[in-house]
Amino acid sequence: MSKGKKKVASKKTNRANSKAKKRRPNKSPELPKGGSINFYWIYGIVGLSLIAMIFMNSKGGGKEIQFSEFKDFVERQEVEKVTHDGHTYQVFLNEKGKATISDGMRDDGSSIMNNLYDQGPDRWFSMPPGDGYLEDFKSLQEEYKFSSKYEPINEWGQQMFSWIFFLFLMIAVWMFIMRRMGGGAPGGNQIFSIGKSKAKVFEKGDSTHVTFKDVAGVDEAKEELEEIVDFLMHPEKYTKLGAKIPTGALLVGPPGTGKTLLAKAVAGEANVPFFSLSGSDFVEMFVGVGASRVRDLFKQAKEKAPAIIFIDEIDAIGRARGKNANFSSNDERENTLNQLLTEMDGFGTNSGVIILAATNRADVLDKALMRAGRFDRQIIVDMPDVNERKAIFQVHLKPIKLDKTVDIEKLANQTPGFSGADIANVCNEAALFAARTSKKTVSHKDFDEAIDRIVGGLEKRSRVITPEEKKTIAFHEAGHAIVSWLMEFASPLVKVSIVPRGQSLGAAWYMPHERKITTTEQIFHEMCAALGGRAAEQVVFGTISTGALSDLEKVTRQASAMVTVYGLNEKIGNISYYDSRGDATFTKPYSDATAKIIDEEVSAVIEKAYTKAKQILVSNRSKLDALASELLQHEVIYKEDVEKILGPRPSEVSDSKDETESTEE
Ligand code: ADP
Ligand code: ZN
Repeated sequence: MSKGKKKVASKKTNRANSKAKKRRPNKSPELPKGGSINFYWIYGIVGLSLIAMIFMNSKGGGKEIQFSEFKDFVERQEVEKVTHDGHTYQVFLNEKGKATISDGMRDDGSSIMNNLYDQGPDRWFSMPPGDGYLEDFKSLQEEYKFSSKYEPINEWGQQMFSWIFFLFLMIAVWMFIMRRMGGGAPGGNQIFSIGKSKAKVFEKGDSTHVTFKDVAGVDEAKEELEEIVDFLMHPEKYTKLGAKIPTGALLVGPPGTGKTLLAKAVAGEANVPFFSLSGSDFVEMFVGVGASRVRDLFKQAKEKAPAIIFIDEIDAIGRARGKNANFSSNDERENTLNQLLTEMDGFGTNSGVIILAATNRADVLDKALMRAGRFDRQIIVDMPDVNERKAIFQVHLKPIKLDKTVDIEKLANQTPGFSGADIANVCNEAALFAARTSKKTVSHKDFDEAIDRIVGGLEKRSRVITPEEKKTIAFHEAGHAIVSWLMEFASPLVKVSIVPRGQSLGAAWYMPHERKITTTEQIFHEMCAALGGRAAEQVVFGTISTGALSDLEKVTRQASAMVTVYGLNEKIGNISYYDSRGDATFTKPYSDATAKIIDEEVSAVIEKAYTKAKQILVSNRSKLDALASELLQHEVIYKEDVEKILGPRPSEVSDSKDETESTEE
């Protein structure tokens, strides 16, 4: 490259740079237009800065040389003067020297700056301390008479130049990242809105007005939320009496069951603004952003109070703290969670802001979130049973033009395991099917088609239950119900369900006895009830399934406790191998012979319970069938329904406990 060309290049750099500088002040008014600014500018700046950096990396201009090379220059009488700061020596060449170095290839990276000012040093070297270099230098100077003076090396101009470049580079990168992350904050400069909350705000009386009428099924949840509506509308009613209005409620349930819809309905009913966002909206790569978003959200909500904040998927930030502490992203999440807790605590009781949050898994949430004054209410939103599904269908079929063939009852029966969102989807798909074939109305066949299609999707998520499976589950649960009903000391039954929930396919709920002492008989009867499910499968279908895992686990635990802990076994006698000190012993506290007896006795007592359960079911076969078909039809049946079929419980122990216990599957 010739010198001339280089100069042109350097001027370009300079000009572009100054342009960029001039442009900066114009930028902020341009940004709010929603990204209309040409962002190639930033790329340009980055690129130029990089080029500049490459050129600038030579220290003080010129190329670094060794002392020996310097000696060569001196000996060829090409040195005019040397300036030094005692360490770095800058060599200025005379005309002859300049001619020498500009001959041949100038690929030495000599500085643009040098050419720009044409006054920088041509070469520089650093003087290694000791080893007599300084003496060499002095004698060279004496011999060849070049001037040498001490001068703190003034790199200031060049340094500043490089700093400005560097600054530009940083600003460019920063702006680029901010732009990427600012995300659709409406209006306003996105660079400055990173810490702002990303909540979607539905103003009062918004067109997307949702009320409780739009939410079908989930009656219990609605009831609890109606109270919250009342808190929002008439806070004085409660505060006058000195009651504190709850700050938050947690909606717990599987996805698509209408949690968001319920929260919206609360806002719609109370006619207050609704701030909706997802837990993951808080989480960003930068430390402190989440916390600042939380702060901003609460500030906005307080300004508009009374208002509702809805945080979907709160587990994204609300997971129990202190796990996986190694990841910095978790630190950030913890900061966000802490801020949320602080804000919730900081509320005055009558600030008029109520926080609703939704999660699929309440069990992973930090306990601090559930403490009084925070999300102290938990509202369960479960998968809909057959009647609830019918109600949901009714809501979603309203806007659809149906023909006479559509049977809502049948639709509800066809869709076990469907959530509210799945049902909404079915209705929409059916309408799409009909439209595709240019029909004027939607028929039941279109719905069949739509259901098949959605079942395909659900099957992948293994949530769908075949009719045979459903029958097996119904008999299994009916078995539990009957055996527990007829065994005198088993816990009283509350409710039986074959609506799938999480991992379990069905469940029977019991009212546990609040007993301090349990007799052998009582444990035995509980075991019979727990085995009733499997026994029913055996009695009805002649085969047993894997669906009784948790039953078997429970029974095995009870049986071995009977034998080894409570001393309730005749053969083992009054011995307990339980160690309340909890000392871990590596050897069993009994001999191998005893171990064998224990094993035999455990399985004997389980066998006895199983035989008893089977015997009960065989002699009540018609009742078992009746109960199972009732379950198949209604999916959830209560104590009263069971009573109708089985007659009053032989031993009605009327305890009234509010806690229930369940055997699942
Ligand atoms: P979640 O927040 O529990 O995941 P959503 O509230 O987002 O579920 O529900 C998604 C959609 O499913 C809703 O917009 C609504 O159309 C439909 N949906 C869900 N549950 C119900 C219900 N109980 N009644 C009516 N529609 C429902
Ligand atoms: Zn079971």
